[in-house]
Amino acid sequence: MAKVVKIVIFAKSNLQAIYWPKIYNLLTMNILKTIVETKVSMNELHKQGKSIGFVATMGALHDGHLQLIKQSKRENDYTICSIFINPIQFNKTEDLEKYPNQIEKDIELLEAENCDFLFNPSVEEMYPEIDQTEFDFGNLEDVMEGANRPGHFRGVAIVVKRLFEIIEPTRAYFGKKDYQQLLIVNSLVEQYNLSPEIIGCEIIREESGLAMSSRNQRLSFGQKRKAPSVYTHLKKARDLKEYLAPDVLKRWIEEKYIGHDDFRLEYIEVADGNNLQPIEKWEDTDKPMIFIVVHMGAVRLIDNIELY
Ligand code: AMP
Repeated sequence: MAKVVKIVIFAKSNLQAIYWPKIYNLLTMNILKTIVETKVSMNELHKQGKSIGFVATMGALHDGHLQLIKQSKRENDYTICSIFINPIQFNKTEDLEKYPNQIEKDIELLEAENCDFLFNPSVEEMYPEIDQTEFDFGNLEDVMEGANRPGHFRGVAIVVKRLFEIIEPTRAYFGKKDYQQLLIVNSLVEQYNLSPEIIGCEIIREESGLAMSSRNQRLSFGQKRKAPSVYTHLKKARDLKEYLAPDVLKRWIEEKYIGHDDFRLEYIEVADGNNLQPIEKWEDTDKPMIFIVVHMGAVRLIDNIELY
């Protein structure tokens, strides 16, 4: 019976679809595939003065994503999640090709959270033609992910700007796991005067301490057992902060990975959480942080820790 009602709701126009689940309290999620229908649905909510919370994802949802949805649900009248594997933010084709895609399961997870809307466009829908926009994020993009993944933040900025312009959310939720991305998005909103308030959300971890990530699915059983050591080192480094200078602490972590069979260190930075620039003395910032990327085989693990 529930399935029949769901089909009827999908068959209705978008405007009606907004109301149907509410009238019948069926909590069915509206799945939007086109920009036009998304704009129409969001405009209707805007006209009614409703607040809209937005969570942008690339799918393969896990509890890290679902916590963002939960927070958005608590703080807004309506919540919309996007699932779009954004090809232009991948600097390696292999990473894009291997990125997990499990849309049916993701829909079930979002429905279980009572997410109101899913925007799940095709690549052709999002990019009917090549986007030539260039951005300037100053020093924010010269370091870490910006330095190691050429073109990555340009791809992120293009898609996030486009999504914000389509949805015009009241609030948008981003994880601190991708801390540099969070600061880039803040800068994007400021530069282009975009609508949402940006909310940074805490990193959600497995019980083992491993930061949750869609890419973790590609870790073997053995790798999954060893991967939590990345966070263990970060926590130990936090404890050592009062005894060691930033560069010594950085070296202490680097040494953990020298000649290691399972891990390859891509970068480690002890930096200022306000502007991501490396720090020489602890007194240089009120927000010292450590940022790390290590590879386990073909899987890239990203993590960070606040030292304050
Ligand atoms: P992604 O699908 O990897 O692009 O991530 C979508 C959003 O979820 C981004 O804002 C991420 O920072 C956030 N996110 C992913 N994993 C986690 C996590 N373990 N904890 C908190 N936020 C996360």
